[in-house]
Amino acid sequence: MNTPLPVTLADIRAAEARIRGRVRHTPLMVDPRLSGVLLKQEYRQETGAFKLRGATNAILSLSADELARGVVTASTGNHGRALAHGARACGARAVVCLSHLVPANKVQAIRDLGAEVRVVGQSQDEAMAEVARAVAEEGLIEVPPFDHPAVVAGQGTLGLELLADCAAPSSVLIPLSGGGLAAGVAAAVRSLSPSTRLVGVTMARGAAMAASLAAGQPVEVPELPTLADSLGGGIGLGNRVTFAMCRALLDDVVLVSEDEIAEAMRHIRAATGDAVEGAAAVGVAAILSGRVKPGPATVCILSGANVAPETFARIL
Ligand SMILES: *Cc1c(COP(=O)(O)O)cnc(C)c1O
Repeated sequence: MNTPLPVTLADIRAAEARIRGRVRHTPLMVDPRLSGVLLKQEYRQETGAFKLRGATNAILSLSADELARGVVTASTGNHGRALAHGARACGARAVVCLSHLVPANKVQAIRDLGAEVRVVGQSQDEAMAEVARAVAEEGLIEVPPFDHPAVVAGQGTLGLELLADCAAPSSVLIPLSGGGLAAGVAAAVRSLSPSTRLVGVTMARGAAMAASLAAGQPVEVPELPTLADSLGGGIGLGNRVTFAMCRALLDDVVLVSEDEIAEAMRHIRAATGDAVEGAAAVGVAAILSGRVKPGPATVCILSGANVAPETFARIL
């Protein structure tokens, strides 16, 4: 007997009902210049990335007492943004802890979303220590960026949504970092369309989940600068949810180079008129480079739009 996975189709359906009306149903468009591949334009989500789904589901899953205490994270990227936005929409307090290394414009952007910002120390580790302190001493509730059942279930609603627009995809290409998106989407799609091939795609430079799946257990890899900055970071040596789910549900993991990511960002700009971030372009990169052959109904999840304008201009 296989052990049951920590997040089921029922959990994802419950998440969908919980967050309905608080997240957008994003378009699925055909790309005629890429063999008719379907592009799931999730970068058009409120806050510019799918992270709003998981963060909102996690906040709405709290008890009234927990909600009154408020939520905390150390993420300054798309998850921090989503948590701040989701908390404000749900009337909850959000605290984002970060180090002095985070640029002032990013700090301001988080404040503008109504979150309380705590600037501590000189590293992400010190920011994480402040999160632990806030949890222990102030009773704040930590909402981590991926390794949490309610976060994974929320990201899984993206899988239900794409199936509503394409009932039986031949394959789905999912950007992969900590694996919250891949675990959630794969759980939904595997349950409802068992023959769909589920492929995690990530950058060749510093991909912790790919290395962990290859090693058969969570491992650490050095973090390197990459165009797909939203895919950086580890999966946690004590990973509880996403490693087991990605191992059980993904059929394959594909790595793409920096040049391939840049080329895919240019392609997506031409196909949609939109600027997406590197992390969102990895699926298209896998197809353009020939690493993945598209089937009759291949879906690429374009996960986020939060690219620095100067980075995008340099790539164009
Ligand atoms: C967080 C993020 C990812 C990766 O999601 P995981 O759940 O960590 O695997 C991919 N793309 C974008 C834009 C993100 O913000």
